[in-house]
Amino acid sequence: MKYLAETDSLTGLLNRRAFSQNAQTILDDTQDSKTSISLILLDIDHFKQVNDNHGHLTGDHVLCTVARTIQATLRQEDLLARFGGEEFVILLNNTTLSDAKQITERLRIAIETLQIPHKNTRLQCTASFGITSLLSGDADITSLIKYADEALYQAKSQGRNCWCISTATI
Ligand code: GH3
Ligand code: MG
Ligand code: MG
Repeated sequence: MKYLAETDSLTGLLNRRAFSQNAQTILDDTQDSKTSISLILLDIDHFKQVNDNHGHLTGDHVLCTVARTIQATLRQEDLLARFGGEEFVILLNNTTLSDAKQITERLRIAIETLQIPHKNTRLQCTASFGITSLLSGDADITSLIKYADEALYQAKSQGRNCWCISTATI
């Protein structure tokens, strides 16, 4: 029952609710330790076109492949979840902004270079990223996500397949 309640049925990742609970626990636990915490929100670019051009089932397959790719690129201790639709969220505990930028760039390239076999062709996709980072303290997960979302919006408007940083908390 717990597994079903916490897991996204398509990708097998944590779902949004479980992410928020686990992430808030991590934030609370590190409140006094003065460590850096970063959060990345990522959204697959022009994903609607994948569905429109190749069908919803293929879209599902692309989502699962991207989910596996993100998971494989991250460290064991990073908290990854499907945030909803074609969006994913990652909490990087003990991670400075500078490290988060490097991790995000690694993720960006891993997704960009994916070649997903489909019929007699290969599908490719890209994603845009919003990063936010802070020294642990009085952080709540809702505002971290809000800052990352603002940065993600900026990355979309800067042309996609890139990342931006929310300076609101830095
Ligand atoms: P943008 O670059 O601005 O993010 O464009 P986009 O097309 O990715 O964004 P938009 O929000 O217009 O479309 C998101 C699409 O993701 C539409 C929706 O049908 C699709 N989607 C959401 N969840 C799923 C899912 O579980 N499976 C599939 N196949 N598609 C999904
Ligand atoms: Mg989206
Ligand atoms: Mg999208």
